[in-house]
Amino acid sequence: MKLPCYLVRDLLPLYKDEVCESETAADLREHLEHCPDCRRLWERMQETVLLEEEAARARREEQADALRRVRKNQRKKRMLTALAAVLATLCVVYLGLRLLHDYANHTYLDYDVDDILKAEYEEHPEEGENPLEGDGLYITLNPTKYSSLSKTAFLDTEEGKVLVFTLGNSLWNKWMGTQWYGLKEGELFKEGICTVGNFGRSIVDELVAAYYLPNSEFEDWESHWVSSVPDNAVLVWQRDAG
Ligand SMILES: [Zn+2]
Repeated sequence: MKLPCYLVRDLLPLYKDEVCESETAADLREHLEHCPDCRRLWERMQETVLLEEEAARARREEQADALRRVRKNQRKKRMLTALAAVLATLCVVYLGLRLLHDYANHTYLDYDVDDILKAEYEEHPEEGENPLEGDGLYITLNPTKYSSLSKTAFLDTEEGKVLVFTLGNSLWNKWMGTQWYGLKEGELFKEGICTVGNFGRSIVDELVAAYYLPNSEFEDWESHWVSSVPDNAVLVWQRDAG
């Protein structure tokens, strides 16, 4: 052995750091091969190095984990914020549409007697699919107001049955009709106001006159029967005598 043990012990840290001259390193290896004491010392030094490397790797992984957790939390927060913004927007849009609907639904378009362009008794032999079909009184309305909602009541007279009706419509219905269903202003709108389809043959056959009650607030008439024709009602149709 070229090197004494005390020198080997001094040199081993340099050897570990790989800063020895190649001749020194070769002499050290030759010594370690033959000296069990120094070999044990060298093995312990290597174990320490491995442990240190292990500890360092564990620290690095822990730091990486912590960083990943922070990033994940940030992503989660951003997603929740975006979701809340979308929900808030939907709520505002929904409330807006609700207000618009309620406003328009309670804004009535009154029909005037002039809006009834025609009131005629028509005979439609085919009854069935459309409940408004069949013989009866039909009115043709001012199409710019689109569709109507009608309320009707009857009066029994010696000559026969007299119809009193009112018409109303909401702004909402008009919008829906023109914007949603694509109905065009200027198209004639005809409505069966008292037909076999909606009141039955016994009433239609006995119908002798129809009165329109203008500017009604479209109240719900409690009964389908009235005791007299209201003062402001206008005669719009009368069955020809004979
Ligand atoms: Zn030795």
